[in-house]
Amino acid sequence: MRDRRNSGVTPESLAAQGGYEGDAETGAVVPPVHAATTFRRGEDYGPPPQGDYLRNASPTGRHVEELLTRLEGAEAGLVFASGMAAATAVVMALRPGDHLLLQDPLYWGFRGWAVDFCRDWGIELETIDATDLDDVASKIRPGSTKLIWIETPGNPVMQVVDIAGLAEIAHQAGARLAVDSTMATPVLQRPLEHGADIVMHSATKYLNGHSDVLAGALLTRQADDFWQRIEQHRSQTGATLGPFEAWLLHRGLRTLFVRVRQATSTAAWLANQLSKHAGVEAVLYPGRPDHPQHDLALRQMPGGFGAMMSLLVKGSEKQAVDVVRACRVFVPATSLGSTESLIEHRPTIEGSDSPIPRNLIRLSIGLEDRRDLFVDLDQALRQALK
Ligand code: PLP
Repeated sequence: MRDRRNSGVTPESLAAQGGYEGDAETGAVVPPVHAATTFRRGEDYGPPPQGDYLRNASPTGRHVEELLTRLEGAEAGLVFASGMAAATAVVMALRPGDHLLLQDPLYWGFRGWAVDFCRDWGIELETIDATDLDDVASKIRPGSTKLIWIETPGNPVMQVVDIAGLAEIAHQAGARLAVDSTMATPVLQRPLEHGADIVMHSATKYLNGHSDVLAGALLTRQADDFWQRIEQHRSQTGATLGPFEAWLLHRGLRTLFVRVRQATSTAAWLANQLSKHAGVEAVLYPGRPDHPQHDLALRQMPGGFGAMMSLLVKGSEKQAVDVVRACRVFVPATSLGSTESLIEHRPTIEGSDSPIPRNLIRLSIGLEDRRDLFVDLDQALRQALK
C-alpha cells in the first residue's frame, strides 16, 4: 500500500495523516506498534527488509522518520531516545583535533555537556555570538572547523540567528551547520531551506506536544559519510527511540500544525499585553518589533514567532521566583512545547554560574484560553511585586 498517495500535498495535510498510507494487511489508518526487538530473516537467510534488530532500526520509528524527513525537506532522518541523544550524536561524529563553534547562550544542558566532552576527547570548542556574523567569520578556521552549532530561537533569551548567513560562512570553510530548531518546529522555520546541513529537535517538546514522551530527531540535507557515522553511533550506543514512544510521537505529530499555530497566536497576543505591564521590565519575544532580530525573524520564520518567550521581571531574583510561585494556571515546571503552559525561573534551573539575568522567567505558552493566562500572570506579578 506504499503508493505515496499523499505525495505532493501540503505539510499540514501530510502531518494530519501522519504521512501514513495505511497498513497493507489490515487497511488500518494508524500504524501498529512493532514492539519486537528482533526480526526473522528470509528463506534465503537474507536480512529482513526493515532491519534485523531494534537497536539498529525500528519499524515504528521509521514512520516518524519518514514524516519528519518530508516536513523538514530533508534527505534522511533519524529519531533518538532523547533530544540530548540526538544532539550529542552529532558532536560525537567529530574527530579529535576538529574545531567546533558553539553558539552561546543556548540550551544550557547541551552546552555543559559539549564543554566537558570536547575537553576530554580532544575536540577544540570555541563559543560564538551567533547573532554577530563578523564574530563567527573571525573565529572560523578553514579546514579545521568541522561544525557550527546554533539554536534559533535560542534558550532562554530568544535570540534569532541568521541561518543562511552562517551556512555560507560554514560552507566557505568546509564546515557543516547544525541547527537546533526545537522551539520553531517545521511549522515555523525550515532550516535546511536556508542552507543548514543538519536540523535537530528535542521531540520531547512540540513535536510530541503532550509532556509524555522523551525523544529526539535529526534530519539531514545529505545522507553523506558524516550522516553514516551518526547512524552507526545511534545503533552502536543504543540511542534508538523505543517503539511505544515512537508510536506516541507519531500520534502527536498529527496535530503539530494546529497546536503550534494556536499556541503561537496566544503567545503573540500575550507578549503584547505583557509588554505594557507595570511589573515587566522587558518581554523577550522575536515577534515584538523591539526584539533585536525582529526583521530577521520576519524573514526566517514565515510561519510565526513561536510560543516561547521570556520576561524580565521588574524586581529582584526573589520576586521573580515569587511570580512563578504565585501562578495558579501556569504550571511551575521545566520544559516546553506541551498543551499546558509552563513557567520557570530559569536561573534556578541553570544554577548560580548561569550568565542569564537573575530576574528572567521563561514561559512556554500552551493551549489554554489566552485570557486565563493573562489574568494568572497579572495577579502573580501584582502579588509578587507589591
Ligand atoms: N534542545 C533544546 C532547545 C531543549 O530545550 C532541550 C531540552 O530542554 C534539549 C535540546 C534536550 O532535549 P531532551 O530533554 O529531549 O533530551
